[in-house]
Amino acid sequence: MKKPKVAFFDFTCCEGCQLQVANLGEELLDLLGVIDVVEFREVMSEKWEGDFDVAIVEGSITDAHGAERIKKIRERCKVLIAYGSCATIGGVNGMKNGFDLGEIGKYVYGSSYHFFPTEETRPVHDVVKVDYFVNGCPIYLPEFKEVLKAALQGIPYHVPDYAVCVECRLNENVCMYEKGVSCLGPVTRGGCNSWCVNNGNICYGCRGMVSNPNQKGMKDVLTRYNVPLDQIMNKMGMYNRCREKK
Ligand code: SF4
Ligand code: SF4
Ligand code: SF4
Repeated sequence: MKKPKVAFFDFTCCEGCQLQVANLGEELLDLLGVIDVVEFREVMSEKWEGDFDVAIVEGSITDAHGAERIKKIRERCKVLIAYGSCATIGGVNGMKNGFDLGEIGKYVYGSSYHFFPTEETRPVHDVVKVDYFVNGCPIYLPEFKEVLKAALQGIPYHVPDYAVCVECRLNENVCMYEKGVSCLGPVTRGGCNSWCVNNGNICYGCRGMVSNPNQKGMKDVLTRYNVPLDQIMNKMGMYNRCREKK
């Protein structure tokens, strides 16, 4: 049977999500048994000129060139998967949206900044239709595999829409607030199995906010643990400066 053609692309990002996939090791070999990877810059030098079945896109759209390129990729694929926070919610690249873009350009490129025109950061679905989302910075590999399976079978994948706290409690972690540290788990989409908290860190909100965050519950937590709202908003800004539209 003919294997579906899959191509990986990157836009503005650190390429950490590609690296996660490249590091799948033996599982990557299993994956290669069912798909035909025709382009994947991090692991192969070949380029594919034709159409393909699935495009897996990492990174945010941050300039006109990126917008033009993603539109062309969309025309060439049947299914498009956006993976990683940069692609799904703008992620860390969205931080620049809080500043004057001209000032940012000068700060980064000095007097040559005119050679590097930039635009407000946008997640991929703000520019083209996205069929599947894999949230996270980096992606949580078990979820990536689930999404890829769903895409190959043509069935829907529903991004979890409950708070990270749900998974965190099931994993019996001691809450970070009990340790005197604030955490964004109460308003952040689960689906990562509370990955960071399980490993002694806080949740930084990398999967974006749940659709209907429990604002009252969050306020109660902040009041109980005497955490200023500004501190939480500041932490939220690391990944969530671009508005989610899905
Ligand atoms: S989501 Fe995170 S790990 Fe993935 S490309 Fe963006 S910054 Fe890198
Ligand atoms: S606030 Fe953070 S540490 Fe506490 S339960 Fe929620 S996710 Fe876990
Ligand atoms: S715990 Fe929070 S920051 Fe860590 S992977 Fe999950 S959503 Fe992202």
